[in-house]
Amino acid sequence: MSTQSIEITVNGDKGMSKKIYLDNAATTEVHPEVLEAMLPYLKDYYGNPSSIHGLAKYARDAREHARASVAELINAEPKEMYFTAGGTESDNWALKSVAFGNRSKGNHIVVSKIEHHAVMNTCDFLGKNGFDITYLDVDEFGRVNPEDVRKAIGPETILISIMYANNEIGTIEPICEIGKIAREHGILFHTDAVQAFGHVPIDVKAENIDLLSASGHKVYGPKGVGALYVRDGVKLEPLMHGGAQERGIRAGTENVPGIVGMGKAAEIAKRGMGRDIVKETELRDHMIHRLLTEVPFTKLNGHRFERLSGNVNIAFRFIEGESLLMLLNHKGIFVSTGSACASGSLDPSHVLLAIGLKHEVAHGSVRFTLSYKTTEGEVDEAVDAVKESVARLREMSPLYADHINNGINKKEV
Ligand SMILES: *Cc1c(COP(=O)(O)O)cnc(C)c1O
Repeated sequence: MSTQSIEITVNGDKGMSKKIYLDNAATTEVHPEVLEAMLPYLKDYYGNPSSIHGLAKYARDAREHARASVAELINAEPKEMYFTAGGTESDNWALKSVAFGNRSKGNHIVVSKIEHHAVMNTCDFLGKNGFDITYLDVDEFGRVNPEDVRKAIGPETILISIMYANNEIGTIEPICEIGKIAREHGILFHTDAVQAFGHVPIDVKAENIDLLSASGHKVYGPKGVGALYVRDGVKLEPLMHGGAQERGIRAGTENVPGIVGMGKAAEIAKRGMGRDIVKETELRDHMIHRLLTEVPFTKLNGHRFERLSGNVNIAFRFIEGESLLMLLNHKGIFVSTGSACASGSLDPSHVLLAIGLKHEVAHGSVRFTLSYKTTEGEVDEAVDAVKESVARLREMSPLYADHINNGINKKEV
């Protein structure tokens, strides 16, 4: 398959026709079948599901069909799935409602140091409102030790929230073990599975998950729609107050086209996940191998095997990740440098610092995330461009010159 061509303007360069999209952890292209499934609900079946007339029934049926598809992907019951406006809302809802709803039982919450900002900043907020938050360390590969979770539990603990897979370094957490510990102690367990939903097989029952956040746009669905799984028997207060939608706990007229799109994305994932994982893992490992062997002074961030199939995160010494991103951008290759750029701050990513990287190494890290559509040709072209760009940036780096002149010639970072 050849590289997809589109007309885009980057840095004032009109008519750039090359596009290699390696930023799928930030968002994905809507799958053609998803778009096709959504269109009728924007055009013909636009009824409000809460209305009584005939048009509303189409919307209601489509919503319930989507709910069943999303539930099935994680072995949940349809009545345990609630649609939201995205992963951020699902995380906020789970954490805030469990926290404030269980205030009489305790005020202690356990999370990891590498959670997404949707969880981190919600915890900041809860911390300012009387809750005591434990931020667990991770190892050098980004893994939470389940024994650390056990040790952190105290009489006041009401919630454990550990992400299923990390959005920056791709590390998959030992969710099953953590779920078991939480259940043994009778403590609610939430997981931010936005990066894992549709990319990793999930079974909420087998893994003792009480609450799970998912999002549409990380899995070839549309933006602005997400879901929260709430295990049957767990009582959750609403975050949004208003109408009686979503069994009375998530008010607001449903985003029916978005919900239909997320449902279709879940069906596609159900059918193609196994094949996609095999294909992406092969390409991922090929890319990692080439970058580590062909570009000197590099290191893989994250776990070598307990890793999302589409995630490659590399620390390039003696360069700024942002500079590499710009050079690649100029060639029509789109990547990410983690959260530093998004926040517009110069602070390195909290995830890269948590796995023990020095500030300058964290700043030289770049994330490449593949999709089911990524080809070997694209990966090879991206690697060639990285090689060339890194060499160019290092030529201009006084630190690199010093390092070489001092005769230090270690390949590790
Ligand atoms: C993208 C992401 C979110 C936020 O989801 P939105 O749908 O963009 O609000 C939360 N957690 C993780 C791990 C993510 O990758």
